[in-house]
Amino acid sequence: MKAALLVGPEKIEIGEADPPPLGDGEVRIRPVLAGICGTDISIYLGHRPAPYPFILGHEVMGRVAAVGAGVGALRVGDRVIVEPNYPCGECPLCRRGRGAVCARKGSMGVNLPGCFSEYATAPAEFVWRIPDGVSDRDAVTIEPLTVALHGLLQSGIGKGDTAAVIGCGVIGLLLVHSAAAMGARVLAHDRIEHKRELARAMGAAIVSGGEDAAGLWEREGVTAVFECAGAGATVELALSAAPRASEVILLGLSAEPAGFLPMRLVREGIQVRTSMIYDHPEDFGQAIDRVASGELEPARVVTRSFPFESLGEALRVAALGNEGKILIAME
Ligand SMILES: [Zn+2]
Ligand SMILES: [Zn+2]
Repeated sequence: MKAALLVGPEKIEIGEADPPPLGDGEVRIRPVLAGICGTDISIYLGHRPAPYPFILGHEVMGRVAAVGAGVGALRVGDRVIVEPNYPCGECPLCRRGRGAVCARKGSMGVNLPGCFSEYATAPAEFVWRIPDGVSDRDAVTIEPLTVALHGLLQSGIGKGDTAAVIGCGVIGLLLVHSAAAMGARVLAHDRIEHKRELARAMGAAIVSGGEDAAGLWEREGVTAVFECAGAGATVELALSAAPRASEVILLGLSAEPAGFLPMRLVREGIQVRTSMIYDHPEDFGQAIDRVASGELEPARVVTRSFPFESLGEALRVAALGNEGKILIAME
């Protein structure tokens, strides 16, 4: 099959690879659209190790091409998306319902072959049929939407509340969109003006570069702060500027240390928690329902598309960090 092979840092070659074997309980998918995610970029740049040659990609919408033995609910031709993280299901964490942080989870395009190829396989339990009314572009952006929605639902934010979102990358933008759709007022912060404009288009009421966040959030009555930028400095901003009795939800994956003043957090009753991907299966089911009902339109985060043959260029553009979601047309 045709596949985009990462043969070394920043080196993509369109070549041939053996199709992934189709095991019992698995589904083979012919990708139609795929999305580029920050995880793809860090592996592409060599910041995360990969067993070269490696097939990247985990945000995929496509059609079922074949089903393995024992797969009852899906048929060849079904329009599907993949929930691309597979908790082992057996370890103590999985048994406690904490599969999102299972140390043995399989992840498409991270420690298992990805979707930037003619065929990809996934366990049927993690393949979701998409309702007819959901467009291909909305379908392929449901995976990052689910990450954002899970983060939002970790907080107590609801209709009429005010939330602040730091970092208007794809997850931040989808969080702005989800919170605004829920009836919350959203303040969005990013250093890049163009991203602030995207946030405004996704429903943010106030946008800024994050200057005087403490004063602004206090005046505006922010009760939850979502850190989606994933840098040490922005985590410190969230923890130092969060108003009294607010919640801070960390979604960004900063590899830099961040400091905080414990006395302030304790005395002012600030709750800090993390949000890692999503819980299987309820979060994906809920995200699909909210898109199917028309409440959420995650494709609004898409700013560019490239053909499959130009995946290398698409990854280079994505790595510059100026775009929203970049899609790859796989057919
Ligand atoms: Zn991702
Ligand atoms: Zn597990």
